[in-house]
Amino acid sequence: MMQPSFLQIASTFKAVFLDSYGVIKNYNGLIEGVPQAIESLREKGIAIRILTNDASRSQEQQAEGFYKLGLKSIQYHEIITSGMMAKQYLQHKILHGKIGYLGTENSAQYILQSGLEHIAVKDINLDDINDITAFVFLDDEGFDWNYDISKTVNLLRRKNIPVIVANSDKLYPVSKNDVAVATGGIAKLVENMLTKKFIHFGKPDSQMFMYAFDELNQFGTFNKNEILMVGDTLHTDVLGGNKFGVKTMLVLSGNTRADHADAQIDASGIIPDFICSSIGI
Ligand SMILES: [Mg+2]
Repeated sequence: MMQPSFLQIASTFKAVFLDSYGVIKNYNGLIEGVPQAIESLREKGIAIRILTNDASRSQEQQAEGFYKLGLKSIQYHEIITSGMMAKQYLQHKILHGKIGYLGTENSAQYILQSGLEHIAVKDINLDDINDITAFVFLDDEGFDWNYDISKTVNLLRRKNIPVIVANSDKLYPVSKNDVAVATGGIAKLVENMLTKKFIHFGKPDSQMFMYAFDELNQFGTFNKNEILMVGDTLHTDVLGGNKFGVKTMLVLSGNTRADHADAQIDASGIIPDFICSSIGI
């Protein structure tokens, strides 16, 4: 039996939430057929939002990235990042002191611009940590993996402060067969070692879905049953969409291999409403 295509399924919805990495793009650039698929959604008047756990770049920087790859129609407001959720939290909850972080200066610039001073873990003096009131795992670059992760563990052993994880992804694919450790993986390691509970942002948490849902509804009336969440990862995209109460689609163009999909669905109990090879086909 012919499976319906992404576009046939998407055509029955008013809005589509797309994950970025593994759905729109991968280590090679845009996934084949994606610009045409996005164009078809636009022609049908289907609203698009991109929900990404990439906290290393702002909405503007991500939109610019898509533009350079050839996706010219993506607007800033259509992109929702886990970094934005972490930023909101910090703005409302951490009102004094300095925020320590592990990550690049660029991600610190846009996530930590809440008026408070921020300080990279490498610049923290462990004998002078009275004014550090929160710590953030931002991204997987911009620090020394040996020295700075150990220093983070020591800081968090000495001082009990809220710890925020701006991107909960544990791994990301860097080639057809290989993955690299992402921020969420480092945070999980430290969390396990210290037996503490960190505050994790990004899919599958509902904040991003709620934010996207509220933002979308400024442009019309969208009910949850009129929205489709599309992603390549069961534990983030599909689980998050299922928890939020929208329909979900697993695509096999990224993290989940076609020959493993059924076994992973069985083992995890995370059941997508639809499965397609890619949004580009
Ligand atoms: Mg993905």
